[in-house]
Amino acid sequence: MLTKNIFIEKTRKVFEDCPGNRVDIPGSGPTLLFDSPLIGFASAEDDLFRKYKDEKIIGPMFMSPREWLPEAQTVVSFFLPFSEEVRTSNRENLLWPSLPWLYGRIEGQDFIRVFANGLQQTMKDEGLQSCVPWIDSRFKRQLLEYTGGDGDNFHVNSAWSERHVAYICGLGTFGLSRGLITEAGMAGRFTSIILDAKYEPDRRPYSATYEYCIHCGACVRRCPAGAITMEYGKNNVKCKQFLDMVKEKENPRYGCGKCQAGVPCEFRRPEKRGFR
Ligand code: SF4
Ligand code: SF4
Repeated sequence: MLTKNIFIEKTRKVFEDCPGNRVDIPGSGPTLLFDSPLIGFASAEDDLFRKYKDEKIIGPMFMSPREWLPEAQTVVSFFLPFSEEVRTSNRENLLWPSLPWLYGRIEGQDFIRVFANGLQQTMKDEGLQSCVPWIDSRFKRQLLEYTGGDGDNFHVNSAWSERHVAYICGLGTFGLSRGLITEAGMAGRFTSIILDAKYEPDRRPYSATYEYCIHCGACVRRCPAGAITMEYGKNNVKCKQFLDMVKEKENPRYGCGKCQAGVPCEFRRPEKRGFR
């Protein structure tokens, strides 16, 4: 079996060799979408996976690693930070997302799919069984409406949640805007893989769900939809209504990410007094 270090080396090589991380963007030219990933490990038996079935966290639709892959031993989460070009392009214009950000969101997700497929093929070549939930045919999600807090909202009940899994794998904690704040900030995308190989879990260097968020309110001020409040965090309905407007304007691309760019948690973990 691969050692943990060799596993990490191999996955980094898959990332480097994957086509599609540099795209030609009108007005920007060839642009790198993602920097090298942060990688975190968790045991498939971690008790938090069971707790996520609670409807106050994710809900009963959430599937544990062993429901995805009966032989599961380890879950590995990857955070792919957006490149500096993508991040900084979205700091200006407080209404519409920048084109590089939209490419990062859509072409970036295409790249992550290729990366995830490459990971699975590499594991297969090494004789390991694996599952990538978000590209598995069993993946599903459901929006549950509720009224309360700051008005009509919905909760996403999903068979797998990359941000929650990254939390278990020690990669970071949630922010007011509901993104995950990692050591490389919040602006980026996640994927994960479940393996039948047993690797030492990483220590979670935090004990509270929102520990890395400094509650500075920058994401509240930057949201063009008024979807984030200091009291209630993000209102999913307001956010989605704005994303629908972006989709109408930029079809087939969509996205926003104003709450992830130009904020203290954009590309690193903030300290109480602002940027570290
Ligand atoms: S911008 Fe400030 S309040 Fe919002 S998630 Fe980041 S650290 Fe938390
Ligand atoms: S992504 Fe949603 S919550 Fe974040 S700034 Fe845009 S509209 Fe607001």
